[in-house]
Amino acid sequence: MSFLFGSRSNKTFKPKKNIPEGTHQYDLMKHAAATLGSGNLRLAVMLPEGEDLNEWVAVNTVDFFNQINMLYGTVTEFCTEQSCPVMSAGPRYEYHWADGHTIKKPIKCSAPKYIDYLMTWVQDQLDDETLFPSKIGVPFPRNFLSMAKTILKRLFRVYAHIYHQHFPQVIQLEEEAHLNTSFKHFIFFVQEFGLVDKRELAPLQELIDKLTSKDR
Ligand SMILES: [Zn+2]
Repeated sequence: MSFLFGSRSNKTFKPKKNIPEGTHQYDLMKHAAATLGSGNLRLAVMLPEGEDLNEWVAVNTVDFFNQINMLYGTVTEFCTEQSCPVMSAGPRYEYHWADGHTIKKPIKCSAPKYIDYLMTWVQDQLDDETLFPSKIGVPFPRNFLSMAKTILKRLFRVYAHIYHQHFPQVIQLEEEAHLNTSFKHFIFFVQEFGLVDKRELAPLQELIDKLTSKDR
């Protein structure tokens, strides 16, 4: 959870998504933060007893959005049309943006443009009450998990871009511990529930192996 880190920068790329206080989701978020503080990530990502998987995934997806929002926020000034004319994660992976609705044919664009599309799209999903119901008793839609998978698959690309193209700047800003902890949490979470395909994670496979090996 973002507030566990003594981050130098509170700059976010998009506005932070808040889970309203007094809701069950807010309690779940507090629970997640408390278990994360225990240091055992494998345990911390597990579905708490008696809780609903959809709700757990929803709360954590919002949290990952906020974390990535802040992490990318710290490097936005370095991620420009000039430095990153294509959205990539190293020389072997290039992404073209399409959301499947308003933009059906993938467009090749710069990384800042792509990430802006991506984060705006995620924000729209999180704000959609029919997809992410925040009110008590309102059920999650049947396709919730598959939508969450798409969101997490896309959010991964922002981590991948930051690691491949902006890691020196992250180090310079002394944000690498923050980035690593956030990414490790993300990976443990998506692994626990099988939310992102292994081939989607390929651009950071080496790092994933390194971050997860110590905990096996
Ligand atoms: Zn960039």
